[in-house]
Amino acid sequence: MDLQEIYSQIILENSRNQDNKRELENPDIVEPGHNPSCGDEIELQVKLDGDIITDAAFTGAGCAISQAATSVMCDEIKGKTLEEAKEMCEIYIGMIKREDILEDDLEKIGDAVAFQNISNMPQRVKCALLSWKTLNDLIEERDK
Ligand SMILES: [Zn+2]
Repeated sequence: MDLQEIYSQIILENSRNQDNKRELENPDIVEPGHNPSCGDEIELQVKLDGDIITDAAFTGAGCAISQAATSVMCDEIKGKTLEEAKEMCEIYIGMIKREDILEDDLEKIGDAVAFQNISNMPQRVKCALLSWKTLNDLIEERDK
């Protein structure tokens, strides 16, 4: 199996996996995200212990790419601080926008690296970015 197939599999599995698609009990921050070009809608929910993300989940509906990207993101940000999560947002968004990202930085986003090749599919880019942009907004909201 080549890397491309592994990546496709991560995306496929996560678009089917509904573990992160749920309502959190008393989330500390809730942030809506919307991608009008595809019709993807999510509501991101995060539970915090101080600055650490102890749980993350989402509700909403959208295409397989947006749902899978959101699910992978929820898995990857659990246990991270808000500051680390913000850095992950920057790395992921840079990766999708084809900026030069260091290999070491790519490792910080875990399985989310599977979405790297979405940058070759312009009509899907916004779907892949939705959850991470929403997370970025959520963190900025809190910093205010
Ligand atoms: Zn979409």
